[in-house]
Amino acid sequence: MRAVVLGAGVAGLACAVELAERGVAVQVLERGERLGARCCSWYAGGMLAPWCERESAEPVVATLGAESLGWWASKYPGTVRAGSLVIAHGRDAGELRQFARRTERYEWLDAAGIGALEPDLADRFSQALHFPEEGHLDPRAALAALADRLAALGAPIRFGAEAQACEQTARAAQAAGDTVIDCRGLEARDALPDLRGVKGEMLIVKLPEVRLSRPVRVLHPRVPIYIVPRGDAHYMIGATMIESDQPTRISARSMLELLGAAYALHPAFGEAQIVEIGTGVRPAFPDNLPRVRRVGGRLYVNGLYRHGFLLAPALARQVAEQVLAGRQSSEVLHEDSGQRRLA
Ligand SMILES: Cc1cc2nc3c(=O)[nH]c(=O)nc-3n(C[C@H](O)[C@H](O)[C@H](O)COP(=O)(O)OP(=O)(O)OC[C@H]3O[C@@H](n4cnc5c(N)ncnc54)[C@H](O)[C@@H]3O)c2cc1C
Repeated sequence: MRAVVLGAGVAGLACAVELAERGVAVQVLERGERLGARCCSWYAGGMLAPWCERESAEPVVATLGAESLGWWASKYPGTVRAGSLVIAHGRDAGELRQFARRTERYEWLDAAGIGALEPDLADRFSQALHFPEEGHLDPRAALAALADRLAALGAPIRFGAEAQACEQTARAAQAAGDTVIDCRGLEARDALPDLRGVKGEMLIVKLPEVRLSRPVRVLHPRVPIYIVPRGDAHYMIGATMIESDQPTRISARSMLELLGAAYALHPAFGEAQIVEIGTGVRPAFPDNLPRVRRVGGRLYVNGLYRHGFLLAPALARQVAEQVLAGRQSSEVLHEDSGQRRLA
């Protein structure tokens, strides 16, 4: 059995690995010159936070997202399972209570508990939510690990392929009866017109003076942010959510807000060196849930919105199961006992 995967973002790589590991001869075509050169996945925070995400997402995100923790740990040894922390300043305590009402699998921490987990935050906050089962990873290293795995399985990625050449290869593959999995992110709008872009801006800073061991979300009614440790004193600060498909540079307002919120978490962030400023455009469907959709004989894996690393493993498993079983279902997400699951 053979398959062509279009796109080497997290969706494409996860699908390719799942297929190749099941013995499918996979070819991955990527228009970028190298890993991450033109994908949204490069700018992700790398939080694997199924239960925190329930705050604004449907139950299916937590159900499918929970799969990602073990999946990433098995594919990328750098996956960290140290939980995540959600905090708010005293005046925003109501935000924390509301977050708790909408989520699950957390414990309340007092000031001493916060200090025990993150000594550099000791005495700065009096209450926090701790989600002990969550994890995080460095998205760039994780993508590289998937690319290495593909190479080891004899399915290297072909980089720098012109979009037209990719399309020709895909059509030829389809004509020969091979499976084509389209994971082109926002570029797939030509076939998925209900896809939209949600721009996200982020920063990477270096700050040896502060040590955080797990992602910290800082709640705020207007500017919620998170900080994800990247190792070697580097931190990712993210992220904005802007209804736009333009990967334009970060705005002055966003920069001020992200840095201001990080500074409020710990004043040492005022001394941080800014290493990188990045922008990615998340592909999203109207309900912000992902889809595996069959259109014109191809399987499209798309709409991962703010959950690419969280949900790609479950979607990839679904795709591999469909392909190997020779299923031809047109769908996607369906209602099952009140909970939405992938078909
Ligand atoms: C700032 C920010 C923070 C985020 N944080 C998190 C997080 O903490 N956790 C999480 O789970 N998710 C997070 N996300 C979301 C996640 O990054 C996205 O859901 C994910 O990247 C979408 O992956 P994708 O593979 O669908 O698309 P992409 O990563 O965009 O990949 C699509 C690929 O297809 C290629 N392509 C396009 N057209 C063609 C063509 N014609 N031929 C060949 N190749 C083509 C592109 O070059 C690209 O490499 C974040 C996103 C942003 C922007």
